[in-house]
Amino acid sequence: MKDYRLAAERMVQEQLAGRSIRDKRVLDAFREVPRHRFVDAALVDKAYDDNPLPIGENQTISQPYMVALMIEAMELTGGEKVLEIGTGSGYMTALLCRLADRVYSMERKESLADDARKKLEELGIRNVCVRVGDGTLGWEEESPFEAIVVSAGSPDIPPPLMEQLADGGRLLIPVGGSDSQILRKVVRRGDDFERFSLSGCIFVKLVGNYGWKE
Ligand code: SAH
Repeated sequence: MKDYRLAAERMVQEQLAGRSIRDKRVLDAFREVPRHRFVDAALVDKAYDDNPLPIGENQTISQPYMVALMIEAMELTGGEKVLEIGTGSGYMTALLCRLADRVYSMERKESLADDARKKLEELGIRNVCVRVGDGTLGWEEESPFEAIVVSAGSPDIPPPLMEQLADGGRLLIPVGGSDSQILRKVVRRGDDFERFSLSGCIFVKLVGNYGWKE
């Protein structure tokens, strides 16, 4: 892709600003992160299309609008410590790195984690730590987190993720069946948790101790 900036700008205008995304910092991050660098060479021309794409290992890079919806709902202002579950291609990770202070990202498949680490490094992104493991257990040593995002669908909300939320922190997670889910937002208020439903969605399975069994 020669002029990816044009493709990125069109994606922002038509798919994000043209729908519900209003946060200027979020829109700018989508302008600046080169999505085509996170897909296979054969799919580069489709990188900015309005749909998910395969990234190997039966996994997908999520549709731009869904990524934006989740990130906007995280309400990031720049100083946050963020936990991401399901690094996948690393695209959402790269966006989060622009919008928060530090990003801790967990991926259960080693090959995907390795590729994502490499791409983030090539792009000069340094405020990130990618670890291989079961993200349904969270990342206790680094908790609490001001925001947590899960980009795979879970039958229920894993309790460790609620426990590792900071006071006032936001958790975004698709919850439901294996074919379709509801994007849920949980906001921690002391020992209470407010819950919201944002949108229908379709994600690959969150596989782990508090997710789907393999
Ligand atoms: N945001 C990513 C989406 C990746 S798809 C992107 O835009 O590329 C979801 C990812 O979650 C897959 O890579 C899958 O391997 C990973 N995953 C599934 N269950 C997981 C778990 N328990 N812990 C960590 N990662 C998990």
